[in-house]
Amino acid sequence: MFLQAPQPGQVPGKAPRRATTVTTSPYELKRERKFVNSWRDEFDWVRYEEGVLFCCVCRGQLNLADNSSSLVKGTSAFRHDTLLSHGISKRHQHCAVAEKAKGLAEHSQTATIQIKLVLASFVTYMMWRGKSSWRNLGKPSTSPS
Ligand SMILES: [Zn+2]
Repeated sequence: MFLQAPQPGQVPGKAPRRATTVTTSPYELKRERKFVNSWRDEFDWVRYEEGVLFCCVCRGQLNLADNSSSLVKGTSAFRHDTLLSHGISKRHQHCAVAEKAKGLAEHSQTATIQIKLVLASFVTYMMWRGKSSWRNLGKPSTSPS
């Protein structure tokens, strides 16, 4: 594979921008683009708040995300093809992996806290039992009646 010299205005590491086609058909000129609710099902990372569409995965990993992306900044240009290309972009994929790892770390931390709570409850119970020894653990207490 041979590397090509970047084109004028091309950002290193990014594909050159394709020329955008300007549609002059009456339908496209009159067309009002809106957020489509089914996009939430199709792209689980899409968020739509206050009239702006964005990627919550990339926004969660701003150190890895392509901060020049319209879906990181937030956009009101509602285009399905923009969502498709963002979803398969390498930067989004990296952010998705990092978000998953972050979620696993938080889950593991929660599990550790739950274990500590169970142990604390156990210690409290043992202290409550007072003079009972570890040998009597699980046996009914022999208090004089
Ligand atoms: Zn993204």
